[in-house]
Amino acid sequence: MIHNLVIVGSGPAGYTAALYAARGGLEPVVIAGSVSAGGALMKTTEVDNFPGFPTGVLGPELMEAMREQAARFGADIRYEDAEHLELHGDVKTVTTGSGEVLRTRAVIIATGATYRELGLPSEGQFAGKGVSWCATCDGFFFKDKEVAVVGGGDSALTEALFLARLAAKVTIVHRRDQLRASQVLIEHAQAEPKIEFAYNREVAEILGDNLVTGVTLRDTASGALHTLPVSAVFVAIGHDPHSALVRGQLEVDDDGYIVVEGRSQRTSVPGVFACGDVVDRFYRQAITAAGSGCAAALDVQDYFDNL
Ligand code: NAP
Repeated sequence: MIHNLVIVGSGPAGYTAALYAARGGLEPVVIAGSVSAGGALMKTTEVDNFPGFPTGVLGPELMEAMREQAARFGADIRYEDAEHLELHGDVKTVTTGSGEVLRTRAVIIATGATYRELGLPSEGQFAGKGVSWCATCDGFFFKDKEVAVVGGGDSALTEALFLARLAAKVTIVHRRDQLRASQVLIEHAQAEPKIEFAYNREVAEILGDNLVTGVTLRDTASGALHTLPVSAVFVAIGHDPHSALVRGQLEVDDDGYIVVEGRSQRTSVPGVFACGDVVDRFYRQAITAAGSGCAAALDVQDYFDNL
């Protein structure tokens, strides 16, 4: 048997691709992941910025609703991992964790990305209680509060500039005395009176009881410790796209993001498409991932129409 479409990954991108492909009659198989099904939103609590939910929705509820909606139109959702892909040629193969080899005419990769963590035990303890990896998602909860952003790249400065519109004060904590971010962002951040810089500092501990109350910073030169009182810590030290499965087969950029053609979701290999955070280093929102999943499914239909 040769399937029309196998979708690897099941966050908002994968499930939206599945919904559109199923409604388009493509009978997609979704390899949703054995433990990671639903993606990053399964680890999120309140989602306030997904349109259509005026009072918010819990991340796992949103993902279950997306899964159910795709399944209603016939998407075949399987809770296992894709372990090996052969993407070249008219018929591609996806080997799953159970050893099954699915043959398919098209593949959508929607495997997402992982944000990097500081690696402190207190980081996990306060996740969702003041520790966040997304200012767009959680900044609103810290209106008029003092917050810290960790990192010295474009993400850290973008997050800090966004937070400066809401928070009383934003301290950028960077482990060196030189920022890695682009000059234009550095100039904007330096011109923003609410932003302060703590250079040559690393986070030694995140402090709090139930909620974050501060961070202990360590001077990277002297080792001296001091406390910075903040209500939130935004960790912005980079992301790792989950593209190991396709390395060597699809074009990826220097950081491992899958390269797509223009505004499409077409990869460097005909019949293979990619969407969501494994493609997107800029927006990384549930709604943008869902939008790119829709586009990927429409691109698959276009691919079949033009075969
Ligand atoms: P990045 O450029 O890799 O920067 C990561 C930052 O985190 C670096 O300053 C790094 O310090 C620091 N860091 C890494 N591990 C750390 C750790 N364990 N503890 C403390 N600090 C740590 O990542 P990014 O900022 O997410 O940007 C990724 C890519 O997306 C870049 O190409 C960027 O241009 C792009 N991007 C662009 C925009 C925009 O244009 N608006 C917005 C977001 C992202 P060191 O400097 O010491 O290595």
